[in-house]
Amino acid sequence: MPPEASFEKIVGHAHAKAVLTAAIGGGRIAHAYLFHGEARIGKFLTALAFVKTALCDRRKSGTSSAFGGSGRPPLTACDQCSSCRAVESGSHPDVHFVRPDGTQIKIGQIRELQNAIAYKPLIGSRKWFLIDDADAMNPEAANSFLKTLEEPPDHSTLILITARPQALLPTVLSRCQAVRFSPPPPDELSPWLQQRRGIGSGEARLLSTLAMGKIGIAAEADAAELKLERDRILAALSKEQLEDLAELFSRPDELADSQEQLYKTLDTIEIWLRDVLIFQHTTEPSLLINRDIPDRISDWGRAVPTDYVLETLTLIHLLKRAAPRNLNHALVLETVLLKLRDAVVRESAPGS
Ligand SMILES: [Zn+2]
Repeated sequence: MPPEASFEKIVGHAHAKAVLTAAIGGGRIAHAYLFHGEARIGKFLTALAFVKTALCDRRKSGTSSAFGGSGRPPLTACDQCSSCRAVESGSHPDVHFVRPDGTQIKIGQIRELQNAIAYKPLIGSRKWFLIDDADAMNPEAANSFLKTLEEPPDHSTLILITARPQALLPTVLSRCQAVRFSPPPPDELSPWLQQRRGIGSGEARLLSTLAMGKIGIAAEADAAELKLERDRILAALSKEQLEDLAELFSRPDELADSQEQLYKTLDTIEIWLRDVLIFQHTTEPSLLINRDIPDRISDWGRAVPTDYVLETLTLIHLLKRAAPRNLNHALVLETVLLKLRDAVVRESAPGS
């Protein structure tokens, strides 16, 4: 597999790349970063590219061919030196990774990090710690980690990566330099997908919209499967189904059997409601995400008042923000579906 973690190969995230290359170029790398933004849009890959670029032997010695002869210090990894290859394969002795063990990052993992960070780097001048899904730290781990963050050794940089920064302690957030990641728009993602997957522009566009800008999904998923998954979720939003919620609630597992599935369901509903709003307020079908099913969007757009759509979007937003990891998934889904039922079948509701 060719190297993936290079700034120039990562689609989108121009702002993050600019901030990080400026930090490397100016020799002002922070002790702690918070990479936050939706899941699977390239935060981890960008972190890896950052570390790789900072550590690249040929970049540091000014012999990287990518910027050769320009007179400027190169700000890209060479992808060929032993350092680059070691970072890419996860075997660099100065680069450490922390990931949830099961669903949590536990105190033992933080103690290991604290043990490792105390020692000077083995090869370069800095040790790197990439903490993926940092919001998964349990309270004990988070409190212990805070001590490291309060007094990080000079030779260290911690990169916290999360799709749910609101789940981190405010005292953790305030000690990190925040770098925000947003899903790249379809017109940036589509050409990349065409090239990477060898597909036509139409299919690439459909894939990038169905994947909602989530590069990690668009890179691997099958468009037909994504469509099936979306249709399965949207089936729950039909008038017949919303009128018979008891039947749907009797099998919540299909839409909310895990945190991941619940978020997928909520994301799909959010995009759907966004399309309904676009239908109601513009005459521009190219702005629609679910543009392959315009009739269903227009049915909703005509039947459901904008106020209900906005209220439901706010509710989903709040639930996503508030949802701790152990929240009852089925209950969150039920709350949203009840709201949608009020919106769709309100005329027939008694007393309204
Ligand atoms: Zn290199």
